[in-house]
Amino acid sequence: MAGNYLDMFSLEGKTALITGANTGLGQGICLAYAQAGANVIGVARRSCQETAEKIAAVSGSFTEILADLSDLSVISRIVAEANAVCGRVDILVNNAGLIKRCDAVDVTVEEWDSVIDVNQRMVFFLCQAFAKGWIQDKKGGRIINIASMLSFQGGIRVPSYTASKSAVMGLTKALANEWSQHNINVNAIAPGYMATNNTANLRSDEQRGDEILSRIPAGRWGTPEDIAGAAIFLASEASSYVNGFTLAVDGGWLAR
Ligand code: NAP
Repeated sequence: MAGNYLDMFSLEGKTALITGANTGLGQGICLAYAQAGANVIGVARRSCQETAEKIAAVSGSFTEILADLSDLSVISRIVAEANAVCGRVDILVNNAGLIKRCDAVDVTVEEWDSVIDVNQRMVFFLCQAFAKGWIQDKKGGRIINIASMLSFQGGIRVPSYTASKSAVMGLTKALANEWSQHNINVNAIAPGYMATNNTANLRSDEQRGDEILSRIPAGRWGTPEDIAGAAIFLASEASSYVNGFTLAVDGGWLAR
């Protein structure tokens, strides 16, 4: 362990790879990790220019890898490019995800698959790809999956999203059971209702927006900055005996 307790939260000398790095919570986690001292690699299907600029402003290190995460065939390239940049990734954050709102009776197979492919299949196979290397080199690693309130609850008109995020929480436990012995900590963060593109439709629906806001004990929507502390904690030595847990950062939503 490091000399003083605050040092346990440092990510100095570590490399973190975050998916969905161009915006929202992914961008917030990139910035938090850069400020905690990590080299940051952002994966996104479009330019992470804004994220790069924010990290440059705090003199952090950032590299972008472009990839569409609906297609599992990109994984080997992501691992190879990331290793070429930094030698080794120490922290994987599976943040990229999408939501489709639709009455359950109207969901099409295409819609269902588009959500499951990114939110669930890609998450599992990215975990697998990095864990394989970490088990081989015996140096361990950290995985932080971004779950949801809908890992705990059913939600309304988002069945594919609920299925995928419930799977993320289940997988987080399943993988921790296999990989904790290899010094790989697999945990998840379940954000509450955060003001990002993901919730733009909800927030523009005045009635649903007001209903949600009135149910949040903290009395406000969350922001990308709100999950920075939990994301740093789960990536750092401070959480080395935390395994398979999904930490809600939700302004008290689940406590209601
Ligand atoms: P967001 O702004 O919509 O960000 C989602 C990210 O995922 C974007 O970078 C998006 O890229 C990326 N993505 C989606 N499909 C992709 C694909 N096929 N290939 C590559 N990247 C893809 O929303 P957010 O709130 O920051 O979401 C981040 C994570 O938090 C998601 O897993 C979401 O489910 C979860 N979450 C959010 C909330 C909330 O209230 N906001 C609550 C619970 C959980 P593009 O910008 O190119 O679309």
